[in-house]
Amino acid sequence: MSKFWSPFVKDLVPYVPGEQPKLSRLVKLNTNENPYGPSPLAVAAMRDEIGDSLRLYPDPTGERLKRAAAAYYGVRPEQVFVGNGSDEVLAHAFYGFFKNGRPLLFPDISYSFYPVYCGLYGIPHETVALDERFRIRVEDYARPNGGIILANPNAPTGCLLSLAEIERLLQGSPDSVVVVDEAYIDFGGESAVTLVDRYPNLLVTQTLSKSRSLAGLRVGLAIGQPDLIEALERIKNSFNSYPLDRIALAGAAASFEDRVHFERTCQAVIAHREHLVGELQGLGFEVLPSAANFVFARHPRRDAGELAAALREQGVVVRHFKQARIAQFLRISVGLPEQNRALLDALQGFHLG
Ligand SMILES: *Cc1c(COP(=O)(O)O)cnc(C)c1O
Repeated sequence: MSKFWSPFVKDLVPYVPGEQPKLSRLVKLNTNENPYGPSPLAVAAMRDEIGDSLRLYPDPTGERLKRAAAAYYGVRPEQVFVGNGSDEVLAHAFYGFFKNGRPLLFPDISYSFYPVYCGLYGIPHETVALDERFRIRVEDYARPNGGIILANPNAPTGCLLSLAEIERLLQGSPDSVVVVDEAYIDFGGESAVTLVDRYPNLLVTQTLSKSRSLAGLRVGLAIGQPDLIEALERIKNSFNSYPLDRIALAGAAASFEDRVHFERTCQAVIAHREHLVGELQGLGFEVLPSAANFVFARHPRRDAGELAAALREQGVVVRHFKQARIAQFLRISVGLPEQNRALLDALQGFHLG
């Protein structure tokens, strides 16, 4: 706290990202990065972008990327917004749709950035409890609200809602914007993008950080009807006209154009997730059904915080949230087969019994 700060800064409660350890030998299964790496075509497109053209500002509209994403999702380019990671896209959506004085609704267990944006923008919010199996009950959201946001699949549980349930959610709150954060949808879910033409209150956000293995590039997007996209553009152009640099725009567009790499690597993650779930269950873990590139698991006889610390000593990093209801769970990203093996070998060594 300093006399130079604007008064509200002392009250901010910032997001705490998962550890990015400096030791490269660690088996890193804590931030849901994709172990397969980005499309080689995307890497080549980024290399081609490095040169004299970097003296010029990038395209502020991101037109080529919007066209590539629109072609992939089967929408029009004016239904696409692009930003510096979906975190930035979400921030603009909170400001643009949820700062209306009425409470925003989101699950009690969800992406921990949502309450942070509420704090930054002064948005009142209410959390809605997941059921005892850690599932979202869409009926519980049919009550007065100034907006709804949820991740599908949810984070950090990995549990998936069907498109029929998303539709019931949209129908229950036709006068507020419903943001569906689909950071993990490509690992087994059905995207709600197919609903945007029928629901003017739906905004779907996506990221290239997980299924396209470009977390380091910082590219995210939103898809909705053009008037929702226009609000995001107005905010973006009041904040930073160039959130995506030339390298990011080139790499992200090429990533959408390479379906073969994308589909092959998503399928590999799904297959290894299923294998990992079976092995963890064999060690006595209870594992929530996951449609994401991570699993959420607890052991009935071992404290999760202690397990995470013991794994760290064996060079395996997983995520543990010191939060009510989920303090006994570990969130484990699906890694390469040898990384998953290292995790399972370390757990085996603890004689979980
Ligand atoms: C990873 C993640 C994001 C953020 O993605 P970026 O595009 O890397 O900013 C958003 N929502 C959820 C639920 C996530 O897990």
